[in-house]
Amino acid sequence: MALFVLKFGGTSVADVDHVKKAAEKVAGELRLGHKVAVTVSAMAGVTNQLVDYCRSIAKIYDPAEYDVVASSGEQITSGLMALALQQLGHRARSFQGWQVPVMTSNAHEKARVERIDTQKLHACLEEGIIPVVPGFQGVTQDGRVTTLGRGGSDTSAVALAAALKAGRCDIYTDVDGVYTSDPRLVHRARKIPRITCEEMLELASLGAKVLQTRSVELAMKYSLPVQVLSSFEDAAGSTLPGTLLVSEDAMMEKQQVTGLAHSRDEAKITLAGVPDQPGVSAAVFGPLAEANINVDMIVQSGSEDGKRTDITFTVPRADLARAQEVLNGRKDQLRYRSVLASADVAKVSVVGVGMRSHAGVAQTMFKVLADKGINIQVISTSEIKISVLIEEAYTELALRSLHAAYGLDRGS
Ligand code: ASP
Ligand code: MG
Repeated sequence: MALFVLKFGGTSVADVDHVKKAAEKVAGELRLGHKVAVTVSAMAGVTNQLVDYCRSIAKIYDPAEYDVVASSGEQITSGLMALALQQLGHRARSFQGWQVPVMTSNAHEKARVERIDTQKLHACLEEGIIPVVPGFQGVTQDGRVTTLGRGGSDTSAVALAAALKAGRCDIYTDVDGVYTSDPRLVHRARKIPRITCEEMLELASLGAKVLQTRSVELAMKYSLPVQVLSSFEDAAGSTLPGTLLVSEDAMMEKQQVTGLAHSRDEAKITLAGVPDQPGVSAAVFGPLAEANINVDMIVQSGSEDGKRTDITFTVPRADLARAQEVLNGRKDQLRYRSVLASADVAKVSVVGVGMRSHAGVAQTMFKVLADKGINIQVISTSEIKISVLIEEAYTELALRSLHAAYGLDRGS
């Protein structure tokens, strides 16, 4: 008998009716003869409200007390889920994170799971009782409540599945899988039936916000099959076609390009006319790192005269003003001619593990963009990803053209 962990996200438990529907999914899985443990998020919007309460009392608050408040949304839904399951005639009970316990580090607000004691949960399962464990919550060695960072209930679910040695972890959310591109922009986007964890990590870090990144890292570490599913379909997860995250070895035929991602959260900075000599990059990027500003893409052009060069890089758009401040404050030391900044950019990326073995993926990208008259401002690559920075207005055109060119279009 297979054991599955079913996780329901905030929109899947958005109100009591949704909780009841989610409970029916659990029941459907039981009817198929599987054992189930359940993890739930807080009702959609509730965690935001709880965070606002904390912030309205103190701008700089005690993170340990924040965790007490923020974790309470999941307490509510775990109890409601147990009640809904009981109402369907099943035996169920909730366990708060500290009752399991889900042991974490003491980094409040962003704690890491260190160990999950599965004894009580297994005892429950053996007796035919469905354990319902709130996501997001944990407890420190000295008994303080923690949370795992926003979106952390995905990580809770995968960690729980790994600890229970479950056969699969099903993540129910408001989309029915991971798509080849954002379906709101690319109408011919398709659901990806199987994707490797590596690809999912790239897509997630590039702005396809389906799963918390740490949950994918955990799935990879434990080779745990994780499935992303819509909770708005009627069937149970075992019969629904979602997107299954698998390890690279389990992928028979590797796609050259599995999906496209885009992000409008970046801004570009060019330092024009910096001295072309050792130590310049360290002098530029050191202070930005100290100011906690994440630099992503970087290019430095060769200098014509060997004396001066330009450095262009991207930072999160929200940090642009701060980054400019840091650089302006060091003008004397950095001796650049000028700082040019633009928020009018978008990053478009193609991702696929097949890139490791296929040549020409980059060339296709450059050619497609050239044919559409789209200028590439910055390029960066990794083994399974190519990203370009372009003018924001061309985002959709770029995505649609690339989607077609790589044969990703629905019906193609
Ligand atoms: N409720 C938490 C949040 O909104 C955790 C989660 O839903 O994943 O961030
Ligand atoms: Mg989430």
